[in-house]
Amino acid sequence: MGEKSSRIQDFHKMSFEEKLKIVKEFSNLSDEEVNLLKSMGSLDRKIAETMVENVVGVMPLPFSVAPNFRINGRDYLIPMVIEEASVVAAASNAARFMRDGNGIISIATDSIMIGQIYIYGVKNISFASQIIYENKDEILKLANETDKYLVNIGGGAKDVEVRAIDTRNYGKVLCVHLLVDVKDAMGANTVNTMAEKVAPFIEKLTEGRAILRILSNLADRRIVRTRAIVKKEMLGEEAVELIAMASEIAASDPYRAATHNKGIMNGVIAVALATGQDHRAIEAGAHSYAARTGRYTTLSFWEKDREGNLVGTLEMPLAVGIVGGSIKVHPITKIALKILNISTAKQLAEIMGAVGLAQNFAALRALTTEGIQKGHMRLHAKNIAVMAGASYEEAEKIAEIMVNEKNISFYRAKEILEDMRKKS
Ligand code: NAD
Repeated sequence: MGEKSSRIQDFHKMSFEEKLKIVKEFSNLSDEEVNLLKSMGSLDRKIAETMVENVVGVMPLPFSVAPNFRINGRDYLIPMVIEEASVVAAASNAARFMRDGNGIISIATDSIMIGQIYIYGVKNISFASQIIYENKDEILKLANETDKYLVNIGGGAKDVEVRAIDTRNYGKVLCVHLLVDVKDAMGANTVNTMAEKVAPFIEKLTEGRAILRILSNLADRRIVRTRAIVKKEMLGEEAVELIAMASEIAASDPYRAATHNKGIMNGVIAVALATGQDHRAIEAGAHSYAARTGRYTTLSFWEKDREGNLVGTLEMPLAVGIVGGSIKVHPITKIALKILNISTAKQLAEIMGAVGLAQNFAALRALTTEGIQKGHMRLHAKNIAVMAGASYEEAEKIAEIMVNEKNISFYRAKEILEDMRKKS
């Protein structure tokens, strides 16, 4: 598996069948798995009803793969699920620039999540904190009684921290953090169960009342750090300079930082959707981390190194799992994980960080050179044509005409459509 190259020339020009064949061979998919992908989104009703409530149908989204990724010395095809045109193309293209040596370097910390127990009505906050620390072992023991499996594989509640929070109308509230290594799960349910379990004991210790018992989505102990280099020979010296400058602007201006980070999340969330992650949790974590100093800034930074190459670094929380939630329930999610061929949640976080950074590079490169619209609108043209009332077959032709004319608009799509229909 490790020896197979994901550098696939002109993958986007291949037919659907050819693409599937490549994915099948790269990832050793079975005929059954290939047929499931080919079915374009059927989901057994029982599976849907296992996942959520009040099901009345399914809503499939395109499942794509991005070739060319090399991460930590290994080649990957990246499964991506997204509704927005050009994201997959941009990621695949960006990955080509970052393949040198071991490719993109990405390291994730252990899977430490934070469970929070907020206690109000505590008379002496500093004394109560001391008592909690003195009873740390008992708190951890109680928490770990809730998930023997996790403890057996080396995870579980590992530490306790106490904080005091100033509120506007209710004075100081005590906050106990339970630090839990959730291993290969996203961990929300695991941590929430532990927080609820230990809360009565903490109430007893502090003589206060637990008001909230749930994880924090600001998963700042579960961080991925990613680095990629783009050689100046590949990019051009001017582009290196412009991207570094664009990065500095974004870091200094929250209005730009939000869009800069959105570009990162295009990649991160597409992989999250393909692999069945709680993407709301990932978004909440990313943006709260970006604002952790009190001022919202970028999750990534681009600069010129001593040799004049472009270096990008990304740091963000990624609470992701390869077990838990609906990950082992949804059949397509299982295929996505098989395509990645990974065995830990840490690896998944590392891959998602790498895709986020590559996606970010693609956007910055387009923005600082020809502008983002040329490539984006070319790939979005078919959607515009459908919006103008074209059938999917008509849309292909209309998009081609609009791309050739370099005039991609709703108005023009309508004109061409009317013309086409008059002639036929
Ligand atoms: P879970 O409860 O479905 O799975 C966790 C279980 O998997 C644990 O009990 C553990 O024993 C078991 N497990 C098996 N193999 C494991 C391994 N190798 N590593 C770790 N655990 C292993 O899911 P979860 O991950 O605890 O919670 C995720 C779910 O919680 C998601 O569906 C998410 O949407 C939801 N959720 C999120 C929030 C939030 O983010 N604010 C709040 C509530 C629920």
